[in-house]
Amino acid sequence: MKNIAVIFGGKSGEHEVSLQSAKFIMEMIDKEKHNVVPVGISKDGQWYTGDDVREGLLNKELRGKPISIKLFGKNKGFMVKEEDSWRELDIDLVFPVLHGTYGEDGTLQGMLDLLNIPYVGSGVLGSSVAMDKGMMKEVFKSQGLPVGPYVVFNKYLWDNEQENQVNKMEELGYPLFVKPANLGSSVGISKAKNREQLLAAVEEAFQYDLKLVVEKGLKARELECSVLGNDDLFVSTVGEIVPGNEFYDYNAKYIDDNSEIIIPADLPEGVEGQVQELAKLAFKGLDCLGLSRVDFFFDEDGKVWINEVNTLPGFTSISMYPKLLEASGVTAKDLVKMLIDLALNRHGAMN
Ligand code: ATP
Ligand code: MG
Ligand code: MG
Ligand code: MG
Repeated sequence: MKNIAVIFGGKSGEHEVSLQSAKFIMEMIDKEKHNVVPVGISKDGQWYTGDDVREGLLNKELRGKPISIKLFGKNKGFMVKEEDSWRELDIDLVFPVLHGTYGEDGTLQGMLDLLNIPYVGSGVLGSSVAMDKGMMKEVFKSQGLPVGPYVVFNKYLWDNEQENQVNKMEELGYPLFVKPANLGSSVGISKAKNREQLLAAVEEAFQYDLKLVVEKGLKARELECSVLGNDDLFVSTVGEIVPGNEFYDYNAKYIDDNSEIIIPADLPEGVEGQVQELAKLAFKGLDCLGLSRVDFFFDEDGKVWINEVNTLPGFTSISMYPKLLEASGVTAKDLVKMLIDLALNRHGAMN
């Protein structure tokens, strides 16, 4: 019996999505083999444990017992408050089900490394590079992987040489996609078709991050591929997203229920293999571990571009990551079991 802490919620803009992913993952963990310890983080960063923590967060309430993390000393680790004293919470493995900042970005991973607790998914470097769309693209470019035209700038450059940044963006040509560098679920992303929309999109994105990535809008189909493994990688069949809105924005993903998912995607000969090969190269190129969903564009000239890697992708029963693997013969229960085993094996190899 291993005690598996499933951590969800969190301080990022994807708090709500995380609560949905955690529900599914906790259901899929084999209770005969493992003991699930739910750990919820509120939007303001407080940690709680207990069977009704998730329910509480859904209702924007804190329920359960407070957790504190002791980073140093003999009894370092997760501490839980019971009555008026703190006792050590026995955790063998963490399954981080946090999307976005303070969970998918390497911060939590670094803390768990210091605590010597194994965890599912990528380590510090893979997580942080994949979270920052600017760094991710730089790494892909240096490895000769196909990424579309883009520019990166931060709040300092925007405040001090706005004209220069606007020129660089407009040289890419409209439409442009303006993105906070570190986020997911399309939060803060806008499509701009002219200067006026561009300036509004930049203001909007700066609400979420001090660094932005602006990309040339590609006229392309959207493909996704799931990767599973540490050293030997298993790649799923390739799926297609047909967004119900002008692009695959937050509403199209979670609210409007108007997007279509096609598994497997109907593609010209050879394209699926090409996407799968690029998915592996992208995963390895960023030093990912365990799981990732790699997103692609397939343009009208038949060229495949890597959009991004998500190291902790959406993980509900209807999410692309588990669905693509299911279509490739890996059930969600087996998938969760394999992710746990991969995390334990990786840790074993390191120590
Ligand atoms: P995820 O939820 O997959 O983590 P994200 O917030 O990291 O999403 P992206 O995948 O970079 O965001 O972009 C979100 C969506 O915006 C894409 O799925 C696509 O519909 C659209 N999009 C982003 N960049 C481009 C581009 N360069 N050209 C065309 N469409 C784009
Ligand atoms: Mg993403
Ligand atoms: Mg994401
Ligand atoms: Mg994406």
